[in-house]
Amino acid sequence: MNKLTHATVGLLERRWLKTARVLAIRTWEPATFLEIDLHLPDCDMSKWQQTLHMKCKVGALAYRDYTPSGWDAETRTCTLLIDASHEGQGSRWVKGLKEGDPVYYLGIASSHHQPVPGKRLVFLGDETAIGHFLSLQQLAGKQARIEGAVTIAQKHHQDEFCRYFSELGLKAFDKDGSGHSRAMEDWVSGLDAGDGADRVFFVAGYIPAVMRLRKLLKEKGYSGRQIRCQGFWN
Ligand SMILES: Cc1cc2nc3c(=O)[nH]c(=O)nc-3n(C[C@H](O)[C@H](O)[C@H](O)COP(=O)(O)OP(=O)(O)OC[C@H]3O[C@@H](n4cnc5c(N)ncnc54)[C@H](O)[C@@H]3O)c2cc1C
Repeated sequence: MNKLTHATVGLLERRWLKTARVLAIRTWEPATFLEIDLHLPDCDMSKWQQTLHMKCKVGALAYRDYTPSGWDAETRTCTLLIDASHEGQGSRWVKGLKEGDPVYYLGIASSHHQPVPGKRLVFLGDETAIGHFLSLQQLAGKQARIEGAVTIAQKHHQDEFCRYFSELGLKAFDKDGSGHSRAMEDWVSGLDAGDGADRVFFVAGYIPAVMRLRKLLKEKGYSGRQIRCQGFWN
């Protein structure tokens, strides 16, 4: 991009960007998974009815999507749960955040998943989808029937996930080297087919794994309407 275009985009950015503020950061062990509590003074969360993603500025003209979870409309706060286990601009950005820092974001838009009342909700994904599933749980309410599993590369993160989010009731499985998880696929294959029509699946995260799980679910006889997919990264 030449200097003039850069300056013009910079001007537009300044016009459109909103500012959130980091209230607190909780780092898992090892420090490649972070929970970031944010205050978003400009954001009315009272009408949130679907999973959402926030387009955060992570560098010069660089944006990454992260899912707000655990929001409180009264205090205008929420939490982002971010996997920073890989080399990437978003990873570097989140690891550099400190309490009190501003977080610039372009906006918050729908990720198009919402709970289906009366159905058993099955969540399947990886670390990047934990915020997405917490958000679905919040939207579904306390009486919701939830099951499912998350693939988590770090053993200690698996323990932390099961401890911190025990009320979600999801299993934690290892990943195979490829980013897929035979353990998760076996668990899906073993689901009792008897009450199959009662289930709706929400699959999110690593795109090749999402596609493979979708295929597996279809092979198991679940209909397209019962399988809701959101690819996050590849
Ligand atoms: C709607 C939506 C919601 C999302 N919500 C969240 C969220 O709440 N939390 C979250 O952590 N992520 C979330 N993501 C995913 C996140 O935006 C991407 O993972 C993003 O690419 C990370 O940016 P990066 O700059 O760190 O890596 P990039 O520069 O995009 O990628 C650098 C390299 O790392 C690889 N890579 C990217 N992400 C991962 C990963 N997670 N694990 C291993 N390798 C990876 C890429 O394949 C590439 O080779 C969401 C994505 C979408 C589309």
